[in-house]
Amino acid sequence: MDRPSALQRIKKLRKLIAYHNERYYQLDDPEISDAEYDRLMTELMELEQMWGEESGESTDSPTRTVGAEPLKKFETYPHITPMLSLSNALSERDILEFVRRVSSQLEPEKPTYVLEPKIDGVAVNLMYEEGVFTRGLTRGDGLIGENISRNLKTISSIPMTLPGPPAASDSNIVEVRGEVFLHIEDFKLLNRKKASEGKPLFANPRNAAAGSIRQLDSRVSAERPLAINCYAVSGIDGPGFESQWEILQRLREWGFPVNPLIRRVETVDECVAFFRELEATRKEIPYEIDGMVIKIDSLAQQRRLGALSRSPRWAIAAKFAPAQATTVIESIDIQVGRTGVLTPVARMKPVSLGGVTISHATLHNMAEIEKKDILVGDTVLIQRAGDVIPQVVKSISSKRTGNERPFSMPERCPSCGSPVYKNEGEAAHRCINMTCPAQTLERIVHFVSRGAMDIDGIGEKLVRRLLEAELARGPADLYYLTFEDLLGLERMAEKSARNIISAIENSKRPPLSKFIYALGIRHVGEDTAAILADYVDDINELAVLPRERLCEVRGIGPVVAENVTEFFAETSNRETIDRLLAAGVRPQKEQRTAASSLAGTTFVFTGALNRVTRNDAKKMVESLGASASSAVSKSTDYVIVGKDPGSKFQKAQELGIPTLNEDEFLAMITGENE
Ligand SMILES: [Zn+2]
Repeated sequence: MDRPSALQRIKKLRKLIAYHNERYYQLDDPEISDAEYDRLMTELMELEQMWGEESGESTDSPTRTVGAEPLKKFETYPHITPMLSLSNALSERDILEFVRRVSSQLEPEKPTYVLEPKIDGVAVNLMYEEGVFTRGLTRGDGLIGENISRNLKTISSIPMTLPGPPAASDSNIVEVRGEVFLHIEDFKLLNRKKASEGKPLFANPRNAAAGSIRQLDSRVSAERPLAINCYAVSGIDGPGFESQWEILQRLREWGFPVNPLIRRVETVDECVAFFRELEATRKEIPYEIDGMVIKIDSLAQQRRLGALSRSPRWAIAAKFAPAQATTVIESIDIQVGRTGVLTPVARMKPVSLGGVTISHATLHNMAEIEKKDILVGDTVLIQRAGDVIPQVVKSISSKRTGNERPFSMPERCPSCGSPVYKNEGEAAHRCINMTCPAQTLERIVHFVSRGAMDIDGIGEKLVRRLLEAELARGPADLYYLTFEDLLGLERMAEKSARNIISAIENSKRPPLSKFIYALGIRHVGEDTAAILADYVDDINELAVLPRERLCEVRGIGPVVAENVTEFFAETSNRETIDRLLAAGVRPQKEQRTAASSLAGTTFVFTGALNRVTRNDAKKMVESLGASASSAVSKSTDYVIVGKDPGSKFQKAQELGIPTLNEDEFLAMITGENE
């Protein structure tokens, strides 16, 4: 894939995933399976990784905003009052600017300010109905959050009832907002425990708090000493409160933990002084703070200032400068990821940064190393900004002694010794060997998965056990497993072993397209595999097809062609395929499939449709791997002509493009779907 089409694809995927997120989370009416969803997500993550910063501002990418899988199982509810997020002040000048702006808008009144440390945790919303805690939600998108009530109940400092009914609104629902966090000491203990259990560590207290509060099993949350600070109330009407300061006092009276460092001040100088004080003393605070929140104290003044769409005008989050330090890169190692990507990792002289010892940081890829002008032995500036993992900002070339040496990516995979490939226009170097030890797990799991060889009863767990027992080094080994091999595994019942053997046996005549997909050739998804399977008679024909011939196949671009030829050029992959065939695997040439015959074609609609909406028609087209375009051109394949067609119909006739009426179109599309 070249750069423009990759960036376009990223854009499209982000949109698509956002759409499906909405269907899933907010409408509770998903349109695609979890597996399909995961495929979109994986593709996006890979593209973003490959194109890095070029893929644009990615903080709002669904790969960042949507959490791990189990989150899907939390119920979601709307917040009664939206949870706004604060605009950021990134320097003292921004603070001055904020104060200047609000002061001028409030003239002639003089505002007072409430200053609160900004804890780096997870924002939550606690709902009390008739004074009783009924529900707790994560912030979610600000409008709708996940129901984490059971986990919040494990935090003993959250009162379950409010003493004496507050002056509540008609609904009698009061919302209390707070930040859930972990103390640094508790975070360290938790990581020490995880380390002793051989489990992956949390990157920082914020991630640990987020991971703990979003546990599906509330017993796990209960074991984590989560803390909370509360700072806002909504749903209280009229004379209830007049100021933010009063709210904080009342929250304290009601039994909510309120940060002891809060302060009320009257001048901008005091705001800046407290900001500096917090920044200077943050290391002594037993939890992580990443800045200070400034709020206009008077609620009447807050109302006058109002809010922008997602953030109030009466408050701002002033962030501390990211923690930075310098250290020396001692070496650059290569990690081979589960998907074969080679990632350079800087091993550095350990240095303390924001209270954490840093000794390594990913350098992402060769292009990144070149861009940052990094040599082995260089003194570099590193930073941990907010909650992100440490990153190398740049090298400090003035500190060079002449002993530094340039780094280059290895020509062979450090895990298996196979040649390393890099696609033109892509940043990543990869190993494409099907039997590369670093990738075996992923390769076999993909190979047996439903869209691929669809071998029942073999999942990731079993694959792990096979690897541990050294019974498999690659997908082909599955077909050489014996009943006795399986019985030799711990906790393997005779019946399961027999079932697995027969499932493997039954998978020996896969459709050719599934077999091709199962090989895990980069950029060859199910649709592309179907196109390839359609074009060739058997796998051996595909294996020797020159790149130029592949490029001529409709729906196959130069990148896919390159990846396919590279894959089959790799001797170890040919060996794997030979071993599969030798074991009796016989991929079956299929009839033309839906995906293959319309995939890659372009439709244009003109005129009104009767039986389906234009939108549904487009979706049907897209579901077959084809696309709908708005203008007729030489590359249009079909023009669908409804009632009262426009000029597109004429254009189609001029260009000699086939036209179909609605019935013909639906017959073709639904026929394809069967
Ligand atoms: Zn390898």
